[in-house]
Amino acid sequence: MLLIDCPHCGLRDETEFACGGEAHIARPLAENAITDAEFAEYLFWRDNPKGVFLERWCHTAGCRQWFNAARDTVTHDFIEIYAMGSMPASKAGKAAFADAWRRNTASEAAAKPSSKGGKS
Ligand SMILES: [Zn+2]
Repeated sequence: MLLIDCPHCGLRDETEFACGGEAHIARPLAENAITDAEFAEYLFWRDNPKGVFLERWCHTAGCRQWFNAARDTVTHDFIEIYAMGSMPASKAGKAAFADAWRRNTASEAAAKPSSKGGKS
């Protein structure tokens, strides 16, 4: 059983939560100037790393509040839980944020190739 520390309710069973997927996805600023494929990439493509991943979670069977979490996808350990609209403060969370290739708008990503090779 996995316990998740809701920032509003405290430790609760994982069955009370829903994971909303990857956190910090930047919406393309010039969405009318990008191709349908680029917009589909923004809308549907998500990272699936082995290691620390930044996710959005909702306490669906509790307070129904959303929050962000830095979670290790190998060990399932929650490294950090932080508020929506804020950035990770832990070293691992900051590294996961900097390492993800989808943090920039499409035009910024095109100008700055990722070290992960997910988008060039
Ligand atoms: Zn809660």
